[in-house]
Amino acid sequence: MIYDWGHSRRFNAYSNYFKKAFGSRIQKVSIDAGFTCPNRDGNISVGGCKYCNNNSFKPSYATTANTIKEQIQKGIEFHNNRYKSPSKFLAYFQAYSNTYKPLNELKIIYSAATEFSEIAGFVIGTRPDCIDDEKLKYFKELSEKYYLIIEYGIESCNNSILKNINRGHTFEQASEAIIKTAEYGIKTGAHLIMGLPGESRDELLQSVNKISKLPLNNIKFHQLQIIRDTEFARNYKENPDNFNLFSSSEYIDFIINYIELLNPKFVIERFSGESPPQLKIAPDWNGIRSRDFLEILEKEMEKRNTWQGKLFIA
Ligand code: SF4
Repeated sequence: MIYDWGHSRRFNAYSNYFKKAFGSRIQKVSIDAGFTCPNRDGNISVGGCKYCNNNSFKPSYATTANTIKEQIQKGIEFHNNRYKSPSKFLAYFQAYSNTYKPLNELKIIYSAATEFSEIAGFVIGTRPDCIDDEKLKYFKELSEKYYLIIEYGIESCNNSILKNINRGHTFEQASEAIIKTAEYGIKTGAHLIMGLPGESRDELLQSVNKISKLPLNNIKFHQLQIIRDTEFARNYKENPDNFNLFSSSEYIDFIINYIELLNPKFVIERFSGESPPQLKIAPDWNGIRSRDFLEILEKEMEKRNTWQGKLFIA
C-alpha cells in the first residue's frame, strides 16, 4: 500500500509537496551571501571537504559581485523568464555555511530577503557545527512568518568515511544539530552523498534506518561526482581505482533499494546531482540529466511495483 502523500507518485515528491503547501509553483533563488566555512578558514581545517567546489552548483547570478538584493532580483527575473508562469520564491542561502557569522550579521543578511514580497521562505544550508541556541531562536522567529528550513550536510553515517573526506564533524554532531533544530520547531533538511570512497552499497543500505529515525522534513541525495579543483579530482587522477562511482543504471537500482527502506514521511527533494559539464570529471552518465534520471527512476519503480518506505520499519 502506497503511503498517502496526496498524489499518485511513488515517492514523497518535493514539487507535489510545495504545490500543496503554497498552491503554486515554487522556485529557489540561489544566493551567495559571502559566507565561508570552518572547514576552509582554518577553524577546523583549511582544505575543505575533499569533494567540495562551490562553483559546481551556483548559478551565474549568485555571486558576491552582486549584493544579496541584486542576486534575489536577478534570480527572480531568471526564473520568471524561464517559466513564464507565476511563481513564489524561496531564498536559498546555498553557498558555504550560511549560519557561520555572528547573529547580528546574520540578521542583516536574512532581512535583505524579507524586503521582497515574492519571497515566501528561506532555505538555509549549513554545517552542524555552525548553529547555536541564539541563532536557532532567531530562525524560529523568522519561521513564524515564512516557510523556513535549515539543511544540514550529513553526507555519511559512518565516522571513518567522514574523517576520510575531511568533513570535520561526526554523524553524531549532525544528528544532534538536526534534533535540536527540530526541537525549536524549525523544519530540517539533510544532504547525503552516495558512493563515497570506502563506503559500500550494503553499508549504505544498512544505514538507512539511522537516517529514517532523524526528525527530518526533507532529504536530498547526490551520487558522488568528481569535480575539478578538488582534492578528490587530484586523488582520482592519481588512482581512479580507489573510487567506485555509480553508473546511472547502478545508481537507479541502488537508490530504489535505498528509498524502499526510507521513512515515507521525508519529502525527497533530489535523487541525483548534476554538475556543469565543464567542471565534472566523472562519472560519465552519457548526458542523462537530473530530469531524465527522475523519469527513468519513476518508470523503474512502476515496473518493480515499489515505492518510498515500502520496506520501512518504524
Ligand atoms: S562542502 Fe560545505 S562544509 Fe565542506 S568545505 Fe565545502 S562549504 Fe565547507
